[in-house]
Amino acid sequence: MDLFRLARYSGCALLLLLMVSCDVFAILFAPLDPESTLDEIERRVRLRNDTRAVFTYDEYRELMQELAGEHYMVLPMDSFRITFDTTRIVVGMRHDIDCHPFNALEMADIENSFGMQSTYYILHSAEYYWTASEGPFVRFAVMDTIYRQLAEKAGEIGVHNNLIEMMTRYDIEPLSFQLEEIEYYAALDIPIYGSAAHGSEDVTELGLSNRMIYADFSEYGTFDYRGKTYEYGRYSLGEFGFQYEALAIDYDKFISDSGGRWSISGVNDQSHDGSLGVAIQALQSFEPGDRVQILTHPVWWGRE
Ligand SMILES: [Zn+2]
Repeated sequence: MDLFRLARYSGCALLLLLMVSCDVFAILFAPLDPESTLDEIERRVRLRNDTRAVFTYDEYRELMQELAGEHYMVLPMDSFRITFDTTRIVVGMRHDIDCHPFNALEMADIENSFGMQSTYYILHSAEYYWTASEGPFVRFAVMDTIYRQLAEKAGEIGVHNNLIEMMTRYDIEPLSFQLEEIEYYAALDIPIYGSAAHGSEDVTELGLSNRMIYADFSEYGTFDYRGKTYEYGRYSLGEFGFQYEALAIDYDKFISDSGGRWSISGVNDQSHDGSLGVAIQALQSFEPGDRVQILTHPVWWGRE
């Protein structure tokens, strides 16, 4: 990375000074150039994704209304993994922010209005997260505000792990990249406890899943891609800086809006219409002591 070129591009001598004197982050902070103001990033994200919404925020309130019942206990994932209560349905509420952190903030507001908190997993390969236009990996520093707001409202921020795609597509070294990312969040006063694997099509095509980067979930292995050999399953979740992986948490029910339709673990998708009512009906069938993960993707929410 040509630091001087980047600093000149940013027009910010302080940025250069920080990078040279601290040398803490190989993941560089993006300059506040006109292309990466927060408004510009939000406009791009909304333009590309807002029309994809399937569910309304009123429907989200309906889901929260159900979960506000006294027989539920709704928690962010790091609390969920250590909380057991046989007298209530214990819910770990999780959101994989694939492409829409702005909808995520709106959903966190709705949760807060019902006195609830949850976990939002931020995708490190997303277009709002970074740009490669001026070097190998430059984070949009303006997004810090969004991550801080989300952490405050939601209660927990996690990493939406797409490390296998990141190393094949952008040639990052996964272990040091991940440790630096956690360090970066720490500098924003955002503690990171866990990760949730992103279902990347590119990774699936390789016959792998992002969880396999961790030795906890895979034997050590290698694969070749475009003439280069990559490793997985070499380092543990703990070595990557995490205390948990979302799907490895102890739970027995799973409800998800993946693909813009609700699916319920153990229930044939063809037998229902995928509407919110299906999810609420499933919740109503659960018993005290059941442990439920609810997964949403903010891109499917906010339909007008
Ligand atoms: Zn994802």
